[in-house]
Amino acid sequence: MRYVSTRGAAPPVGLSDAMLAGLAPDGGLYVPERFPRLDPDAIDPAAPFAEQAARLLAPFAAGDPLGDLIHDLCRDAFDFPLPLEPLDQTTAVLELFHGPTAAFKDFGARFLAASLARIADAEGDAAPTRTILVATSGDTGGAVAAAFWRRPRVRVGVLYPAGGVSPRQEHQLTCWGDNVHAFAVDGTFDDCQRVVKAAFRDEAWRTRAGLTSANSINIGRLLPQCAYYLAASVRRRAAVGRDAGFVVPAGNMGNALGAFWARALGFPIHAIALPTNANRVVPDWFRSGEWSPRSSVATLANAMDVGDPSNMERLFHLYEGDASEIRRVATSLSVDDETIRRTIAARPWGRVWCPHTATAVHMRPSLGDGDWVIVATAHPAKFETIVEPLIGGPVGVPPALAELLERPAEVTRIAPDLAALQRCLDA
Ligand SMILES: *Cc1c(COP(=O)(O)O)cnc(C)c1O
Repeated sequence: MRYVSTRGAAPPVGLSDAMLAGLAPDGGLYVPERFPRLDPDAIDPAAPFAEQAARLLAPFAAGDPLGDLIHDLCRDAFDFPLPLEPLDQTTAVLELFHGPTAAFKDFGARFLAASLARIADAEGDAAPTRTILVATSGDTGGAVAAAFWRRPRVRVGVLYPAGGVSPRQEHQLTCWGDNVHAFAVDGTFDDCQRVVKAAFRDEAWRTRAGLTSANSINIGRLLPQCAYYLAASVRRRAAVGRDAGFVVPAGNMGNALGAFWARALGFPIHAIALPTNANRVVPDWFRSGEWSPRSSVATLANAMDVGDPSNMERLFHLYEGDASEIRRVATSLSVDDETIRRTIAARPWGRVWCPHTATAVHMRPSLGDGDWVIVATAHPAKFETIVEPLIGGPVGVPPALAELLERPAEVTRIAPDLAALQRCLDA
């Protein structure tokens, strides 16, 4: 399998090279050059997810050095459960929050980290030490830090705005040590991103540090997000005998894209619903056909605060720009903060939902009688300052998250400029 750029002006590459590059050299995003028809019946619905994922991802690593390692890699990356639980006759929930940082980004970050570790192994003594820099305002940084922690020949710098994340989020960024360095930047999230971008532009330092990107557009983070839709659609059909639709809380659209790809591969998915928060560029496009990216606004579901979702480029590429075909498969709805609050407080199906998942929970009744799976993107305990006052009580912390919150924290405070970051990392 080769990977091509959405912009069509970069040479096709294998999976390892696409992961190491992050962005394609023409500025586009890597996508598989074709979507082979996979056979859903070849997947045992009762098998562990790591096994299902390895079978499903094997064609995507074919011809690449990672191809022979895919089973080992999936066992390494997906060492936590993926529950799909019924809520009522026509609704289930896919819980993507059982990884170490209690949000779905653990799937992608862990698969990418496990892959890069094996690429480094294959390079042997010649392997450079790589540096991963990630700017974060919440879930991404924690997932990447956890995934790369104590992996050989790689170090991670996590940059976040000082005072700009919740105490529990901050702890998930600063509790690692060893090869993971946390930097509290005197500035905003945009300042953090500016520093990371400047590092990539500093050619000499970039080469010396072996700078590698782990951001959410990396193909290594998307493939596992496709695998859990493949697995869940097969499991759901085995359970109820019908094709499922998925309701996917959407920000940068990476999670949702996995569902579109799974459907393109021939898996039993009848439709995809895309709730967003008050950042409504996607629902506006569904309504008007005008693609008008804009600045993001802050909401309670902050991991979905995206005004210009980069994975739309992959979605348009998949459907060759055919908007009517996308509209036939999918719908979208903007859910404001007030509705998110009301939904959490009402505890639908007797459950406590995180602010992101609440957008999907709110959208479910409008989707009618078909079979639908709500995609739960994070555990509510990550957002206790929002959720607890609304439900009038504490949210239990899952064991993996509790363990992490016990660890001591360590962080370096830096000015919002590249030289400050380089001084710390070069020391
Ligand atoms: C990142 C994130 C989202 C948004 O996912 P995208 O792939 O950016 O659309 C939703 N919920 C949670 C909890 C997240 O961390």
